[in-house]
Amino acid sequence: MLAGRTGIVFGVANKRSIAWAIAQALAGAGMRLAFTYQSERLKDNVAELAATLPAATLYPCDVSSDADIEAVFSGVARDFGRLDTLVHSVAYARKEDLEAEFLTTEREGFRLAHDVSAYSLVALTRAAVPLMQQSGGGSIIAMTYYGAEKVAAGYNVMGAAKASLEASVRYLAADVGPRGIRVNAISAGPVNTLAARGIRGFTEMLKHHAERAPLRRNVELREVGNAALFLASPMSSGVTGEVLHVDCGYFIMGV
Ligand code: NAD
Repeated sequence: MLAGRTGIVFGVANKRSIAWAIAQALAGAGMRLAFTYQSERLKDNVAELAATLPAATLYPCDVSSDADIEAVFSGVARDFGRLDTLVHSVAYARKEDLEAEFLTTEREGFRLAHDVSAYSLVALTRAAVPLMQQSGGGSIIAMTYYGAEKVAAGYNVMGAAKASLEASVRYLAADVGPRGIRVNAISAGPVNTLAARGIRGFTEMLKHHAERAPLRRNVELREVGNAALFLASPMSSGVTGEVLHVDCGYFIMGV
């Protein structure tokens, strides 16, 4: 379905990363992929995973650095000459801001969480637009969580950052839609990843979701990957500005 198309995936840390599940689904459908890694510490992990896919390319990128973002997209222009899909699967908040009350969040912790987890989508989308226009359009996919909509204990500043990310998805979708570029988010149910382990009470969160969700279980990484495949593919050509819940239906439950 995606043969001849190219994509870039931000946010692989290891084989449990949601970004990696998405990459596998996209590559499985024939897309050629590039990956970024946040730091030298993660480079070997990402390189090892990327090596299992055909012709994957790697670039370093800390998304809080404009210079890094510019270098990545120069690399993509040079190596690929086009871009069809961008996956934003990146988030960060300081541990202390996930442990204490949200009330205690300091200016720097708030700024950092919003810079890395929300503003980065704006910066990456802006950098991707010229390359996607050359491809005749594109699809941008961000990862979010229900804590953007309702209070999730321990999610704190990340909830505020995800709300900003989801609003950014809508504003970006409105801006780039006339250029044939779609922007959507996947709101995934909890998955046991490196980032998730930073959330206080995450194990209880997993248990609670599985008990309450209409499907009576937690979402599988493969299912998040498949939803991303849908959003990257022409099957979703009429969908933009959407937050697609892939959470076994948890979000519909009231009392
Ligand atoms: P993960 O730890 O595997 O991925 C997070 C990634 O963010 C890592 O690859 C890390 O290197 C990257 N990152 C952090 N700061 C960065 C920076 N400054 N520059 C570049 N990269 C940076 O965890 P994950 O759970 O796969 O998270 C991926 C996305 O999915 C995040 O946006 C997360 O909020 C979202 N999400 C996760 C869950 C869950 O339960 N795990 C649920 C819904 C949404």
